[in-house]
Amino acid sequence: MEVYLDNNATTRTAPEVVEAMAPFFGTEYGNPSSMHNFGGRVKKHIDEAREKAAALINADPAEIVFTSCGTESDNMAIRGALEAEPDKRHIITSKVEHPAVLSAARYMKRFGYRITELSVDGQGLLDLNELRDSISDDTALVSLMWANNETGVLFPIKEAAEIAQSKGVPFHTDAVQAVGKIPIDVKKTPVNMLSISGHKLHAPKGVGVFYARRGTAVMPFMHGGHQENGRRAGTENVPYIVGLGRAVEIAAANIDSEFKHTKNLRDRLESALIEKCPDTRLNGHPELRLPNTSNISFEYIEGEAILLMLDNVGIAASSGSACTSGSLEPSHVMRAMGVPFTAAHGSIRFSLSRYNTQEEIEYVIKKMPPIAERLRSMSPFAPKKGA
Ligand code: PLP
Repeated sequence: MEVYLDNNATTRTAPEVVEAMAPFFGTEYGNPSSMHNFGGRVKKHIDEAREKAAALINADPAEIVFTSCGTESDNMAIRGALEAEPDKRHIITSKVEHPAVLSAARYMKRFGYRITELSVDGQGLLDLNELRDSISDDTALVSLMWANNETGVLFPIKEAAEIAQSKGVPFHTDAVQAVGKIPIDVKKTPVNMLSISGHKLHAPKGVGVFYARRGTAVMPFMHGGHQENGRRAGTENVPYIVGLGRAVEIAAANIDSEFKHTKNLRDRLESALIEKCPDTRLNGHPELRLPNTSNISFEYIEGEAILLMLDNVGIAASSGSACTSGSLEPSHVMRAMGVPFTAAHGSIRFSLSRYNTQEEIEYVIKKMPPIAERLRSMSPFAPKKGA
């Protein structure tokens, strides 16, 4: 059996999405900017995809820009907002952002920017007072993620955006992991900019969305033609944009049932593993979290060893640690949360999707405990039984 529980890394492209894209690799090859019918036909489909993407977050279609991925959308927000406010030199973000935000913000240091990285508590939650106190007259941008990719923990984006708004500072949210999994309404949440990635919601890899509220000053990141209303140059990736449109349409129609489905399976998996495997702990807030994500530490064992053994029995998950130059560093998210070293090393992220089944989850519940026991018996760090 093969069980894919790494949906925060990427999702399976939905068969309906593949089907919707197919004509645009074949007969519908026109350039949407062309005047003739080949172009006009294609443009109509791009407009429809834009409407669908807008509908998913209750935006206006004119506020949607198609990009190549979530990383591009994040960089576009940061670079675009900073360039629009050239006299301000301070960026606020958090310690647990995805590198698409964190590295892009830190890169700006070489141009004289000061970065405040807000801390999180042991459950991965943000302190809004720290945000409030960090904003100054020099702050050009606040960028905070909606949902954490490693733990699924949700930041209070409505409240954070309201704080930024009350001080007149533009607010960006990396909503790559949140969109499609939880309801998002930009009419009720005063974010100025928001990033979406297609491949996290069953569209293909290589397409994303950048939302910019009407009136938000953002300088273009890519210069060239007049595509996307002059906000993102480059001939549109038509098949992928059409695919993204179909994917967000399906996500919007099924958001409640998918929430319940993934949460039920996730909760069953999580409680069974924590019960059956000794020395385990849940990383992240138990409730304020995405329905599909569970990050569990198996103390005293290496996450990579668990992943390899899971892979041997057909189970795909991921670990928070990154192997850099021979030394195993716990992830920046685990470190920011203060997860003890022995637990951070053995943290495993299980992330589910609409395609997972009860049978698959029961299979993982059967396979995981003996793997943890075997690795623990070999670990030099684990307390010996009976000692
Ligand atoms: N932001 C978050 C929270 C993510 O999880 C990811 C991908 O893992 C990205 C940004 C980057 O998205 P993409 O892979 O589309 O560039």
